Formats: sequence, C-alpha cells, structure tokens
Amino acid sequence: MVNQQAYALGANRSCIRELFEYGKARATIVGAENVFDYSLGNPSIPSPAAVDQTIREILTDTDSLQIHGYTSAVGDLETRRVIAEDLNSRFDAGAAAEDLFIGCGAAPELVAVFRALAVPGAEILAIAPYFPEYKPFVESAGATFKVVAPDVPDFQIDLDAVEAMLTAHTAAVIINSPNNPSGVVYTKETLEKLGALLERKSAEFGHPVYIISDEPYRELVYGGVEVPFVPNIYPNTVVCYSYSKSLSLPGERIGYIYVPKQAADSKALYAAIAGAARACGHVCAPSLWQKVIARCAGLRPDLAAYDRNRRALYEGLTAMGYEMAKPDGAFYLFIKAPGGDANAFSEKAKLKDLLLVPGDGFGCPGYFRICYCVSYEMIQNSLPVFAELIK
Ligand code: PLP
Repeated sequence: MVNQQAYALGANRSCIRELFEYGKARATIVGAENVFDYSLGNPSIPSPAAVDQTIREILTDTDSLQIHGYTSAVGDLETRRVIAEDLNSRFDAGAAAEDLFIGCGAAPELVAVFRALAVPGAEILAIAPYFPEYKPFVESAGATFKVVAPDVPDFQIDLDAVEAMLTAHTAAVIINSPNNPSGVVYTKETLEKLGALLERKSAEFGHPVYIISDEPYRELVYGGVEVPFVPNIYPNTVVCYSYSKSLSLPGERIGYIYVPKQAADSKALYAAIAGAARACGHVCAPSLWQKVIARCAGLRPDLAAYDRNRRALYEGLTAMGYEMAKPDGAFYLFIKAPGGDANAFSEKAKLKDLLLVPGDGFGCPGYFRICYCVSYEMIQNSLPVFAELIK
C-alpha cells in the first residue's frame, strides 16, 4: 500500500517535464538545432566567476571537517549575519541573523512556511498565473489551496478578486514577483493596495493574513524597473528567497527564509517554520554552499544575455501580432494563444518542434509560457515558426 496522494504526484510527470523529455527525444531524431525548446526554466547564463573562485578559496583556506560538517539546523550564523547585512544595505530592512532561516531553495522553504501556517481549516491563496508546485505544497501541508483569477491582460493583481476570496480562514496570500510565468513585476502601487486590503481584512478577522513572497527572480529585472521589497510595504510578510536563478545555482539547493521582526507573532512564526522544516527532515542546508553564500551574498548576475533574448522575443513576437504583458523580469513570456485555445496551439507548435507550455497548469488557460533562458541562435531560428503559426 502506498499513499495515493504521493503516488499521483510521483507517477505523473508535470506537463513541463513531459515537454522537456519530449524535446530531448526529438533532438536525437531531428537534431538538437531543429528543436525549439522553450519549456524548462533552467538558467542559461553561468554563475558569476567569483562563485567558483570562492569555492576554490574555501577548499584551501577552511578546515575540511568544518566545510562538510553540520551547521546549526537553521543555518550558519555567519551566513545569516551576512544575508541580513545585505538586506539592510539594499532595503533598509532592519534584518538580523535570528530573522533568517537558511533553506535548500525556494521550494522546500515554501513547504516549511505553508506547514507553519496550516492551522486546521486554513486557506492559502495564490494569484493566477502562479507556479504550479504551490498546489501540491499547500495541499500536502493540509491547507486548502484557492486561486485568485488573473488580472488580464496586465497580470498585476485583481484586488476585488482577492477581496472576494478572503475569508476568516485565510492564513496567507502567496505572491511571486517577478512572476513565473508572466515575467511581470508587481508595481509598488499594486503591492500597497494589496497591503492595505490585507491590513483591513486582518483587523476584521482578528488575525493576521500573511503575504508569502516567493522571490527566486528578485534580481532578474530589466530596464531599471524596481522590484519593491515587500516587507517594507506590508510587515506581515515572509520572504522565500533562492539563489537558484540569481546566481544560476538551481542544482545546489540554497536560499533563505526571512521573517521580519515587524511581522505579527514573528518569533512564534520563525519557530514554527523551523519546526515545519525539521518535520520534513529539511535542516542544515548544504554546508559548503552556506559558506559560499557568506562570501557571495552581494553578487548580482550579469543579465545582458537574458535581456537580449527578452527583447528579441518580445519585439519579434509583438510585431507578428502576438499579445503579452510587458515582461520586465524573470525569464518568461506569457502569451495569449492565437485562436484562444493554448492546448491546441501548443499541439500545433509541437508538430513543428516548437515546445510551448500551455497556461492551464499556471491557473490561466488561453495563454502559453515560453522560457527564454535559451540560446539567442535558437530564438532567431524559431521566429519563422512563430510567424507561420500565427498566419
Ligand atoms: N517559485 C517559483 C516561482 C519558481 O519558478 C521556482 C523554480 O522555478 C521555485 C519557486 C523553486 O525554486 P528553487 O529552485 O529555489 O527551489
């Protein structure tokens, strides 16, 4: 006998993984250069050279037992201190080491936060379009997952729709900006309005409704657009951050959770997050990587290659008649499917070895996602296929 919920998650690959595997199989038949795979968000720019250099330095200047040994369960104190300093210098956050939990990337961090807030009957809201893994993470935490309809066509936040879904059971609202899959950055105005709404409803319900700010793309933003620091707008915010995309380290599994002191019940919340992580067996993030982050927390990626790809696709596709919100961040475009049926359109594209992810899994049918962490050459070669498909 196996747990059926777990079985279903393990036995069925996600649509994105399915497409990615299909692309690899097609490449062996038609040649990799003839497959235009926009499915998976795997960073395509290398980590800053300083990251590798730092690893070498740590290997030579630090005792081996210390490099590979357990750190404290919530993360190495020095690493947390450095991250707090980085947040303070950039956002005047008022953060301290004890407000930070070092995690193995945004995914397990989100799981820990959902579990920490999942009191009996709790509801957690996501705003469409949203990262599909939220649903299994929230549901396996024992909370109810509810989706707020998308704010088309700009993909900011439809505040009336949020208000209509808030109930006395709402524990938290998940936001993700820059957004996967839309590439949109929520404006300060949007976040201020959301904060004001949640403040009003928290007072009405007699308990805080937290924002869980999922921020793996915080540093991936273009054209001087600002990504507001959410705790400065709404204090009852928990930040889940990851170095997977900002330093191109998705396989290393490193990031942090920030519970600001200003958040309601911050000490209890931090302890519950640490406890939830413990109950998942997720303590002591990789020790070497914690040491790397202690020396590299201030590094930022060189986004020139992503920006070039973004502009080539955004300008190329809008000129052909494709419609999408302006992609100011992350490395995705979320495009309205010509004809309105994204599944049918993606199937048509697949016949031409152009791999697009339909928006249904992101809670937003009728759109498809493309991930542009690919080669510029692939983009150029794929544009004629896009042009043919919209004819
Ligand atoms: N949240 C969003 C919106 C993502 O796109 C991803 C990964 O693609 C994650 C969380 C998980 O990130 P990590 O690799 O840090 O676990």
